[in-house]
Amino acid sequence: MKLYEINPYLTSFTAEVVERTTINDQPAVVLNQTAFYPLGGGQEPDRGTLNAVAVTDVIERDDTIYHLLARALTDDEVLGEIDWARRYDHMQQHSGEHILSGLVLERLGLNNVGFHIGEDLMRVDYDEFIDWPVLLELERDANQVIAQNLRIISDIYQPGDEDFRFKKEITGQIRVVDVPGVDRCACCGTHVASTAEVGLLKIVEAEKYKGGVRLGIVCGRRAIDYFQRLLDQTKELMHLTSSQTFAITPAVAKKYREALDKDKQLADMERRLVELIDRSYAEQTEPIVLFEHLGTKATANLAAELARKAPFVAIFHPVEETTFRFYLHSNKQDMAALAKQLLQDFPGKGGGRGPTSQGSLQATSSQILEWMRKRS
Ligand SMILES: [Zn+2]
Repeated sequence: MKLYEINPYLTSFTAEVVERTTINDQPAVVLNQTAFYPLGGGQEPDRGTLNAVAVTDVIERDDTIYHLLARALTDDEVLGEIDWARRYDHMQQHSGEHILSGLVLERLGLNNVGFHIGEDLMRVDYDEFIDWPVLLELERDANQVIAQNLRIISDIYQPGDEDFRFKKEITGQIRVVDVPGVDRCACCGTHVASTAEVGLLKIVEAEKYKGGVRLGIVCGRRAIDYFQRLLDQTKELMHLTSSQTFAITPAVAKKYREALDKDKQLADMERRLVELIDRSYAEQTEPIVLFEHLGTKATANLAAELARKAPFVAIFHPVEETTFRFYLHSNKQDMAALAKQLLQDFPGKGGGRGPTSQGSLQATSSQILEWMRKRS
């Protein structure tokens, strides 16, 4: 017997074990009656315990409900306890979906063609795209239905009653969930008793999906948690940009423009610095070894220029006190070989091919200079 169909608010129950088996290498039991909702109809299965043993999954096969357990259960009589916070959350989301889907069908004639209550968001698909302004109107009306505190009733009907939505053809008895005047839908899921219990419905995402739309929705407690997460993020941004709540966007845009300007200025200064350094070197027989804070592109440009005047060029960019990025360039020698020798004597990594080689290593600047002196 499916106790959750009779009373979805049942959080604990007693039952007898009628079958013991193994599913996916996990011990599992079948009970004579259960309040555990199994995976199905877009709703995730319940969690909880049977005589304090964790129920890790609940699945239905051929009308039989299997409770997968963390460890084997030897008792014949069990006390089942449902993880109520999780289940009630699912009930709030699921009832919210019915309200919205009823409105979408009535107003736009569109069908709910996909539904899943995920960990973060409830995903609801409709068979045509819906624009944001229309979605916001539907959302406002769904929240009005919620505020009306309508009783949600689940009842059994015989085939032939065509006056309800359904996602797949059903044979035998039909369970119909009724939100009076708003929606009637064939459904096996668990629902709250009144629309008011959905609390709040907020559409947070809408994307084109299989020729229609896929919505991300939060209801009830989830909507409040979602709002709090947004607020935490907003506060962090307010702090970073020293701005007020609704002035973040212009503040971020301003910082972004300033950063772009600074990037340009920096590139210009680097170009001029490369020119100055290049001009300060005459042609020489000794390698050129330099320590410079330059960007990747400027470093490569400088090395290419100087490589015409010396056997090779080694530019070291300080990252930390004893960590340097190195860039080697030569028109005469194999720089991969030099990098290899360098990395034999100092911890680091790197490589290269052709006239250049690059990487990073750990050493002090005087150790590097000493090493270079011995090489030449
Ligand atoms: Zn449903």
